[in-house]
Amino acid sequence: MPKSFYITTPIYYVNASPHIGHAYTTIVADVLVRYHRMIGEKTFFVTGTDEHGDKIAEAAQKAGITPQEYADKISAQFRNLWPKLAITNDYFIRTTDANHIETVRYILQKVYDSGDIYFGSYEGHYCVGCERFYMEKELVEGKCPDHQTKPEYRKESNYFFRMSKYQDWLINHIKNNPDFIRPERYKNEALAFLRDPLDDLCISRPKTRLEWGITLPFDENYVTYVWFDALINYVTALDYPDGKKFKTFWPAAEHLIAKDILKPHGIYWPTMLKAAGIEPFQHLNVHGYWNSDQSKMSKSLGNIVRPLDLKDKYGLDAFRYFLLRDMVFGLDSNFSEEAFVQRLNSDLANDLGNLVSRTITMAIKYCDGKVPRVSRKDKNQSLHEAALKTVTEVEASFSDMSLHKALIAIWDFINIINKYIVENEPWTLGKDPANKEKLTAIMYDLLLALRAIAVLLMPFMPQTAQKILRQIGAEESQDFNLISIKKDDALKAGSPLVRGESLFPRIVQEKENHVQEKKTSMIDLKPEIDYEEFAKVDLRVAKILAAEPVPKSNKLIKLKVDIGEERTIVAGIGKDYTPEELIGRKILIVANLKPVKLMGVESYGMLLATDADKGLTVLTFDREAKTGGKVR
Ligand SMILES: [Zn+2]
Repeated sequence: MPKSFYITTPIYYVNASPHIGHAYTTIVADVLVRYHRMIGEKTFFVTGTDEHGDKIAEAAQKAGITPQEYADKISAQFRNLWPKLAITNDYFIRTTDANHIETVRYILQKVYDSGDIYFGSYEGHYCVGCERFYMEKELVEGKCPDHQTKPEYRKESNYFFRMSKYQDWLINHIKNNPDFIRPERYKNEALAFLRDPLDDLCISRPKTRLEWGITLPFDENYVTYVWFDALINYVTALDYPDGKKFKTFWPAAEHLIAKDILKPHGIYWPTMLKAAGIEPFQHLNVHGYWNSDQSKMSKSLGNIVRPLDLKDKYGLDAFRYFLLRDMVFGLDSNFSEEAFVQRLNSDLANDLGNLVSRTITMAIKYCDGKVPRVSRKDKNQSLHEAALKTVTEVEASFSDMSLHKALIAIWDFINIINKYIVENEPWTLGKDPANKEKLTAIMYDLLLALRAIAVLLMPFMPQTAQKILRQIGAEESQDFNLISIKKDDALKAGSPLVRGESLFPRIVQEKENHVQEKKTSMIDLKPEIDYEEFAKVDLRVAKILAAEPVPKSNKLIKLKVDIGEERTIVAGIGKDYTPEELIGRKILIVANLKPVKLMGVESYGMLLATDADKGLTVLTFDREAKTGGKVR
């Protein structure tokens, strides 16, 4: 029997259109479910919308439409967004669905019959925005701390769920299952709520003031409080109580939420389940907020954009990558276009994109455009071992919800592959036919490593993974899972290699400062200088990101380098180096030389080189130097 995996997002309240927070939660759920599918588990993924309550009724009234029409409109925005983010949910639930209404009424009746729902009266400060009563001590200067508005004083008779009865049970359950709520900070927060006596939960609203809700099965003058209604979606979606899905998936339930709804999910929901005789869920996984300061966003790019627009501007996979890589699960993170573009350029364009394109280019050149046949004895195990280590790290990251760590592990592997290329210099081996076997084995190892990268990236960046697989001639195979990475012959000899478009074109940020055009001249004779004069020269470690010949010149090469910021420099080394072998190297440049134009190309700096036996040799480093590091 395969293991099961059930993942839910919160059902999103239809009082607002989708934003970055909704997108993040849903993408995380999607990455998780794609991963669990890939490792062969039976999976079920549910998202949807929460549509009842005061706020919806009010918003609909303002818009001059019925609550149902209003809910239909906003719910559709969510439903239509998910395919654009490559979300692969199995089910989209709405709390206005007939099967959900039936399930809510079934559970209410069950809990009522067992004596855990009673009728009582309540008076207090009621915030319409929060849809709940506040205790005097919870108010800040008499106002709701969330809405900064003065609550209404209300007195009404209502139905209450005996939540207090389950306080001790819940404390013990959380203590006995330390990752029931994770990361740990949120477990502690839930336990802190539970230090004070738990009040019973008011679960009804009189129809005299709210009709937009599910009518209580035992009193038709009342509708159900929106949280008691909404949380039940997680079991409605599995056809509780008798559905086969409920038996299969409920024991493996993973809820995913943002920290603002910890209390309903960490306190109300487990006690509701307990009272209804349903086993608790497995884990409540809680993440932080994306802070996006719109005023700070994208000044340098000249326009202000909403985070979700960046998906269209830079591509879905880059968007998914940024969200997953830049947020430590559980903590808050800042969303900015600058940070997005930086990740795109450094991790995606440089590290991954360059690796794929140069490997494919070399493999086509040295292996006649096909996956080569290699005998086992020729294979170098170092890359394969690095792949296996990465698989282990990725598995561990998924089991403890630290997806950014999975990506860090994958990028460590990408860097190992890049280093393998630099160390083995296929372009040098390629000059002598005697090296054919060795070169072929190296190319096979590289292609196999690309396959492993594609498989590992599949849950995160499904489109990119497919593009890589197509380029290495592995698209047709169906064997895309972690186990396949463990085979060192996963690529079929003879499959055609395909040179594709650049996976992630670099984003060029507009620079505000203009180029001052002034020729500088080299001086042959150098008089003595003092230290202050020397210190004016800003020497930096530069990593070569891209290299190409300058058109119509027989020795100039245009280099794109990283010195902490990006530069173009033009160097006269085209007779001594091919562009291919320069990429990825770290060199030494003069960074504060005034720009010059060489054969029509602006050069913002100069690399250092010296005479070799034949031609020139570029100055490099004895040990791994830090990109952008100052040289003194
Ligand atoms: Zn409020």
